[in-house]
Amino acid sequence: MPIDATQPYDDGNIFARILRGEIPAKKVYEDEHAFAFHDINPQAPHHVLVIPKGRYVSWDDFSATADDAAIAGFVRAVGLVAREAGLVAPGYRLLANVGQDAHQEVPHLHVHIFAGRKLGPMLA
Ligand code: 5GP
Repeated sequence: MPIDATQPYDDGNIFARILRGEIPAKKVYEDEHAFAFHDINPQAPHHVLVIPKGRYVSWDDFSATADDAAIAGFVRAVGLVAREAGLVAPGYRLLANVGQDAHQEVPHLHVHIFAGRKLGPMLA
């Protein structure tokens, strides 16, 4: 079920639980600002999720309320994860769903990294 991106942060959400180590995840990267792991239901040969360590429901929440160090650290981490996976030359796609119409399912900001096949034109 898609979530309401205006809801308060829920500490019981699945990605909060992954960050706390309560649920396993296939980690690919971690630093003080970000945690990256493989999506449990990959939509491309390479499908990684990058999440901030802070308590942000969505990109909207994050872009409006996070401090500059958290934003810079997270954005750099997304780029680093893709670069270190060798995705820059073949190319990759970033996606962050926000709220109901975009079908955001987990109420903790996550950026999808898709790669490993021709992804085709952008979906609208
Ligand atoms: P959204 O639709 O919110 O942008 O994407 C949520 C993503 O989280 C989906 O691609 C889904 O497969 C992934 N996901 C949901 N639960 C889990 C989980 O417990 N572990 C991992 N690794 N991915 C999950």
